[in-house]
Amino acid sequence: MKYRVVEKSGDKISILGYGGMRFSTKGGLIDEAKATTQLRNAIDQGVNYVDTAYFYHGGQSETFIGKALQDGYREKVYIATKLPPWLVQTEADMHKIFETQRKRLQTDVIDYYLLHALNSENWEKFLKLDVLSFLAELKASGKIRNVGFSFHGDRDNFVEIIDAYDWDFCQIQYNFLDVNNQAGTYGLKYAADRGIAVMVMEPLRGGSLVSKLPDGIQKLYKSHEVSRTPAEWALKWIWNQAEVTCVLSGMNEDAHIQANIAYASEMEAGHFADAENNLMDQARAIYLSLQKVPCTGCQYCMPCPFGVDIPRCFDLYNSKHLIQQKTRTFYWMQLGGMNGKPSYASLCQNCGKCLDHCPQQIDIPTELKAVAKDMEGVLMKPFLKAGRFFLRLKR
Ligand code: SF4
Ligand code: SF4
Repeated sequence: MKYRVVEKSGDKISILGYGGMRFSTKGGLIDEAKATTQLRNAIDQGVNYVDTAYFYHGGQSETFIGKALQDGYREKVYIATKLPPWLVQTEADMHKIFETQRKRLQTDVIDYYLLHALNSENWEKFLKLDVLSFLAELKASGKIRNVGFSFHGDRDNFVEIIDAYDWDFCQIQYNFLDVNNQAGTYGLKYAADRGIAVMVMEPLRGGSLVSKLPDGIQKLYKSHEVSRTPAEWALKWIWNQAEVTCVLSGMNEDAHIQANIAYASEMEAGHFADAENNLMDQARAIYLSLQKVPCTGCQYCMPCPFGVDIPRCFDLYNSKHLIQQKTRTFYWMQLGGMNGKPSYASLCQNCGKCLDHCPQQIDIPTELKAVAKDMEGVLMKPFLKAGRFFLRLKR
């Protein structure tokens, strides 16, 4: 196993981290016997970073990890977990959730603590709750060791958040397709230049960059002199970048765990030759040629006076067609306004305000109609109503 150092704490982190969102399940619940064996097996082979969150596996992930790390395994790993913005309304809520997490994880100290899924909406909400004082207080008391955030907003939002606090680390969605999406390569380097460790999530876009490859990319991979699996290409492309500290993978199949550990045991930053980097550039170009809307996520069209998150609508629509990702429910949750204002495509009133601002000259209202037809459907509104009702009950 290869390791990289977190600049601010000096922690030596395995470049492969264990994601706690996709453990083996049985009957809808975590299969604790199987998942414990798999997690401990990975730790025995050098994985030392375990990432979870308050609501993963419906709240079972943290409790499971607390149990699985008994018998001396807790001391072998760094635990990361996250504070969910959608469940906090007061400062007291933040304390209550944090204490629940320590109890579930059976630990006094949480090594890496993150604000979960920041975007402009969640960030604003946390600022109103004075979350930065809350985090500083926890760190000063020794209850958390490293302070960070996970991120799903746009590039400007990422820079604003990075500049707002002395973060130890952050967690971004990053893979060879997302170089200009969300924080992107710009954000990766922006954080690393400031000594902030970067953990990577969705390295395979939920498996889509592996399981449902367009034909052109399969041919491209086969054409290379070194035979590699799609997962190996995708993971090594990320590790090739020195700015990345750790890549998280939600692993639940023995073969995948062993393969990922093998890849993480041989890859160094800067290892790829020009030909390999070129091949990945070509793979990205194939994906981009298949996309539905040539939106670059630049945000020049924003804000929409009717609240449509134009780039996010196009991003999720493209994901569905590029890599056959099942993004419909995700679209509903992301843009449905569960935790604020809705921002889905059918809110467009065709006012035309955005049109002059798009450098790609996209006919935004027309494309949004196509997005709404494809991504929303008659079930979205009842789904959102039920979701809001559930959230009210949880609070
Ligand atoms: S045309 Fe539609 S998306 Fe564009 S600004 Fe007007 S309402 Fe918003
Ligand atoms: S201006 Fe055009 S390219 Fe930029 S985010 Fe808006 S739709 Fe996408």
